[in-house]
Amino acid sequence: METDAIVLDCNDHGESDVIVTLFSLEVGRITAIAKGAKKSLRRFVNKLELFSFLHVVCTRKAGKSLSFLAEADLHTSFLNIRKDLELYAVASVIREFLLVGIREDEPDERIFHLSLWSLHKLDLLQQPRAILALFLIRFFEYVGYRPDLETCGKCAIQVIPQKKYSFDPSRGRIICSGCVNSSTEGISLSHGTIKILRSAQDLPLERLHRLKISGTILQEALTILHSYGRHLFQRDIISWKIMKVCGKG
Ligand SMILES: [Zn+2]
Repeated sequence: METDAIVLDCNDHGESDVIVTLFSLEVGRITAIAKGAKKSLRRFVNKLELFSFLHVVCTRKAGKSLSFLAEADLHTSFLNIRKDLELYAVASVIREFLLVGIREDEPDERIFHLSLWSLHKLDLLQQPRAILALFLIRFFEYVGYRPDLETCGKCAIQVIPQKKYSFDPSRGRIICSGCVNSSTEGISLSHGTIKILRSAQDLPLERLHRLKISGTILQEALTILHSYGRHLFQRDIISWKIMKVCGKG
């Protein structure tokens, strides 16, 4: 089997082998053993690094989950991401969400292209945390949990400028000030944030980078997306903590 793939994980195995976790376009998640990769065989050298975008040839025996990595060609290694601490930290959050969100034999072209898009934009040093927010809002949709930002999740009335809103991360919905039970229900959300996240849900991928998100809107967006992600996957996102201490807040 031949496919394009992104390296999501890479671990030594025994004396000379490496086990890689790949996100492939054709079959989703692949766990593959690269025999002899540690002995710097030419066909693998400098290719099996985190975030590398590869073209791979794999074989897998029926009924087995471990594939055999026969060949790997490098499309790009995203060198800037590997050189810059903040970019690396942001890419690590994306990687962690992908590792919990993608499955074997469940290819997803939209998530694949979205992931590649974010790595390319990060590598170009473009507003890294905004890229993360844009990635997450679409990623949640593609795994089946598009947050509803159009209407209040309780009264079903459309968002209007006269009301205040908060986001309920346990249900992926917004709640208007008229319906909110207490000041502790949900995370408050400004109209600016609602508006930009809604645009991010619907813009074509090739235009997504034109959305500029910064300042308090970016903070708010990341706060609700982080919280929603933790609820969806029922786990802490470890690399988020690392990202928080890297770079600019
Ligand atoms: Zn309401």
